[in-house]
Amino acid sequence: MLLFHRKLIFTFILTLFSAITCAGVKLNVVTTTGMIADLAKNIGGRQVEVLALMGTGVDPHLYKATQGDVSKLLKADLILYNGLHLEGKMQGIFIKLGKKKAVHAVAKGIDQEKLIISTAFGGQPDPHVWFDVQMWHQAAQEVTRVLIQALPESKEEINANFQVYSQALLALDSWVRTKVMLIPAKQRMLVTAHDAFGYFGRAYGMEVESLQGVNTASEFGLHDLKQVRQLIIERNIKAVFIESSVPKKFIQSLQEGLIAQGYPIDIGGELFSDAMGRSGTIEGTYIGMVKHNVNTIVGALL
Ligand SMILES: [Zn+2]
Repeated sequence: MLLFHRKLIFTFILTLFSAITCAGVKLNVVTTTGMIADLAKNIGGRQVEVLALMGTGVDPHLYKATQGDVSKLLKADLILYNGLHLEGKMQGIFIKLGKKKAVHAVAKGIDQEKLIISTAFGGQPDPHVWFDVQMWHQAAQEVTRVLIQALPESKEEINANFQVYSQALLALDSWVRTKVMLIPAKQRMLVTAHDAFGYFGRAYGMEVESLQGVNTASEFGLHDLKQVRQLIIERNIKAVFIESSVPKKFIQSLQEGLIAQGYPIDIGGELFSDAMGRSGTIEGTYIGMVKHNVNTIVGALL
């Protein structure tokens, strides 16, 4: 009799547990950058709970996981990161965790032939793939694939979410193209501290110049500074740009140098390069971030 009761209680607990799981325990997704978190939220919808480790103003090249991050990563059902060595100091953690759970680099889904190999990044591909919206669309497809793998029972819903977001990304891509073309061809040059806009430049027809190369961990020399100054003067460029995740001092010293040479130049505004704006603001979404950047660039260079 007692055994029977125990069995009954056990069955009851089991049923209760599976009922709770079916009633919508969300997939716990942890990402590195906000851009990837935004993809996972848009595509996973109500099936996912998404957390980004790197907030606004955070530089992913230099970011080291804190103790708190490690415990969040350990609790995650799925970990999404950019890859291509963007998260240069977190590689070891991803390899370790990848042996125990689902860990995916979203850049894996991008056509590898489209990657820009950068000498300034040690002959490795430039990791800033999100600024070519069509390439980011491929990353969105990869996130869709990985989410369906984790939640096969929600395949239709995830696919439907992707279709909606896909349309928004394609519309954004053609909007950016049209906006950039408003800048006169000769002045279509973007000068920033670190080279986050290589894919952006290639996709939308803008030359890009930076002081630091694609990795903020590298230093820049006086020689580079002089070259960039000369180019700005020759091309009659009206403005240079600071980035939210890189110290302002690099671009400020460029500006001071130009003013000392009798060439007045504006700081055209702040661009979001490797981190999005604050969450809850328009710039705190991927689409809002791209629009902010393009409006800032076009507004200052036109
Ligand atoms: Zn960067």
